[in-house]
Amino acid sequence: MAEETKVMRASGKTRLRRGLRFLRTRARELKMIGKALVSTKHPILVHIIPMRQCNLACTYCNEFDDFSNPVPLEEMKKRLDALADMGTSIITISGGEPLMHPELDEVIRHMRRRGMIAGLITNGFYLNKDRIERLNEAGLEHLQISIDNVVPDEVSKKSLKTLDGRLVMLSQYAVFQVNINSVLGSGVKDPVDALKIAHRAVELGFTSTVGIIHDNNGQLKPLGPQEQGIFEEVMALGKSSFSRFNEFQHNVARGREHNWRCRAGSRYLYICEDGLVHWCSQQRGYPGIPLSQYSPEMRHREYSTKKFCAARCTVSCVQQVGILDNWRDPQNLKPMPMTPQAELVQIGQVRGDS
Ligand code: SF4
Ligand code: SF4
Repeated sequence: MAEETKVMRASGKTRLRRGLRFLRTRARELKMIGKALVSTKHPILVHIIPMRQCNLACTYCNEFDDFSNPVPLEEMKKRLDALADMGTSIITISGGEPLMHPELDEVIRHMRRRGMIAGLITNGFYLNKDRIERLNEAGLEHLQISIDNVVPDEVSKKSLKTLDGRLVMLSQYAVFQVNINSVLGSGVKDPVDALKIAHRAVELGFTSTVGIIHDNNGQLKPLGPQEQGIFEEVMALGKSSFSRFNEFQHNVARGREHNWRCRAGSRYLYICEDGLVHWCSQQRGYPGIPLSQYSPEMRHREYSTKKFCAARCTVSCVQQVGILDNWRDPQNLKPMPMTPQAELVQIGQVRGDS
């Protein structure tokens, strides 16, 4: 794997810009934590989908199609304005493949203009020097790529082999922070891949995290002894900022239920390409209300609503957000009745992109 051993040094100018952006983002993250501890009235993290279409077709994924159009820029701006007006701290753009959106740079620019921390989850296939420079200019602060294996197979082409050249370019040119997420658990052929991916991420100066996949029914299933060892090793390598708060993942790895308060629909929102609010990518369809009509009362109700799926949840980003409120305000409400035409999409097998 000669190409995976290449390490290119960023120029002095890039390293300086990277350092400055890191310090600014870290200051904004600390402010975000302070604001979240003082008030429960605003969303802390929002995932927004500007593009459902994807250039890949990973066989485990049900978050993409191969035909839909990008959400028009003006509509995206309206949604971002609505989120900024709610006091949202962080927005992470997800998909589909967001880099297929022709005006993504302007979407990111608008997020920054409105004072929100800007993140992006991508499969990385469209990254090159020019695209990375454009993301730098737009003001991107975090980027995450999930890599599923070392060599592409029939399940996923998101491999170290296919992506390593792009990772090297990121290490050379990106001034934003980069996190590489690897996976362990059900359906992963070789667990050692996760370790190789994590080591490569750290070698290139990135942070690394690991997501855990469960069985086809979405049930918690403990990792085997070899996988648990790898999990602990990858966790020890991880050194990212907000994603450091991931104690719950040790429960997930051991197949244990965990006790926490999911604040989805309130402190965390998932906004689909149609502009509807959902609990999360795993529980799409509820509440299913247009963002433009999603009121402070609705957010407050969801803040106090106990989620039936919490004990077995694998969505790490919502659990990280939950840490800021777990110590307060027990949840005692039930979800609102769903309209007859509403359809709840429950995803059993999750790769933990978020
Ligand atoms: S997992 Fe990501 S890259 Fe793969 S099909 Fe789904 S959206 Fe596309
Ligand atoms: S799956 Fe997890 S994040 Fe989603 S609503 Fe349920 S508990 Fe919350």
